[in-house]
Amino acid sequence: MRKPIIAGNWKMNNTASAGVALVNELKPLVENANCDVAVCVPAIDIPAVAEALKGSNIALGAQNVHFEAKGAFTGEISADMLKEYGVKYVIIGHSERRQYFGETDETVNKRTLAALDAGLVPIVCIGESLEERETGKTEDVLAKQIREGLKGIDDVSKIVIAYEPIWAIGTGKTATAEQANETIAFIRKTCGEVFCPKCAEKVRIQYGGSMNAKNCKELMAMPEIDGGLIGGASLKAPDFATIVNYDK
Ligand code: PEP
Repeated sequence: MRKPIIAGNWKMNNTASAGVALVNELKPLVENANCDVAVCVPAIDIPAVAEALKGSNIALGAQNVHFEAKGAFTGEISADMLKEYGVKYVIIGHSERRQYFGETDETVNKRTLAALDAGLVPIVCIGESLEERETGKTEDVLAKQIREGLKGIDDVSKIVIAYEPIWAIGTGKTATAEQANETIAFIRKTCGEVFCPKCAEKVRIQYGGSMNAKNCKELMAMPEIDGGLIGGASLKAPDFATIVNYDK
């Protein structure tokens, strides 16, 4: 039985003080959650939000990690730096990083292996563009992202995969629950072929893309969907809490 995980991706939103206010509002609203809960915050918010989350059931996540342990990599953050503040999850390969910051399956792979080595749980994002979906390339694109981005992982169930169709991120367009379920089933099947069927059964695969307080129940009712990576709707505590409490 896979325990669902609902994670907020704040992206480049919330100063540290705004982030602390947000999690302080959120904590009592999600304290009885039946799923794993996390907020993935801007790097500079990490110390303050880590302090505010102490004693709560909300785990802390980052939005990127460098693959080297240390050195001349101006602007980058290492896994050890994240770990010192109790960071548990790290988003890797978000489509915005692929689109604007030159992230490739190769760098996704390096970051994922480094995060696993350090004991972080990578949330690896994969997904197709609208053009790729409309021209029937979705499965090829996802299979390539899995084969190349997750190469060399010994146990795929140690990571979380976020299926995020690019056309649904921040656009208000959600994949239908059936579309998301079917595509996640394909991702699981591919993980079974690339890794092992048992690990594929265990790996948690989230849906991400305009998931919100209104559509979360329908999406979360799907058997293959093990949670959500939530952008916009994670910035308002009541909305995010409604998603976390989707089963209530
Ligand atoms: C995301 O940032 O991963 C995301 C899914 O954003 P949104 O929920 O705003 O579409």
